Amino acid sequence: MGPEGWGRVPLLYVLLPEAFMEVHRSRAVRTTRLPDDWATGTGWLDRIVEAPAPARVHAVRLTFEPGARTAWHKHPLGQTLHVLLGVGRVQSRGGPLRAIVPGDTVWIAPNEEHWHGAAPETAMVHLAIYEADEDGSTTIWLEHVSDAEYRAPPRDR
Ligand code: MN
Repeated sequence: MGPEGWGRVPLLYVLLPEAFMEVHRSRAVRTTRLPDDWATGTGWLDRIVEAPAPARVHAVRLTFEPGARTAWHKHPLGQTLHVLLGVGRVQSRGGPLRAIVPGDTVWIAPNEEHWHGAAPETAMVHLAIYEADEDGSTTIWLEHVSDAEYRAPPRDR
């Protein structure tokens, strides 16, 4: 675009502000505690994005205090986790308990039953990225993770 093109941008912004990107400021985000139906222990959720249709992506940042973990659950269209801080745990139904650390990325397939959370003595923060299905559903919650399941030694550490 030439110099005259740049000159049009402020007027367009005044007339059509929704045509431009949205910036959501961190100071406006309200951190919420994971409901007891969804977790054991204390986990904190910060919403990053719930994109408007036709986009379907959701992203959140989850902070698990030591010993905290989600209940068993599944996502209709799967989920990506990316660990930012600490030491965590993740497990699929019938699969090994795994330790996860910063920089690790976990892909969980559609409808794969699983849980994720902190290590027993160490907090963990991860991003979670997932999509809503055609009904807007993102997660189906199941039973809580027992202490025996949670306390098993991880396969890797
Ligand atoms: Mn999940």
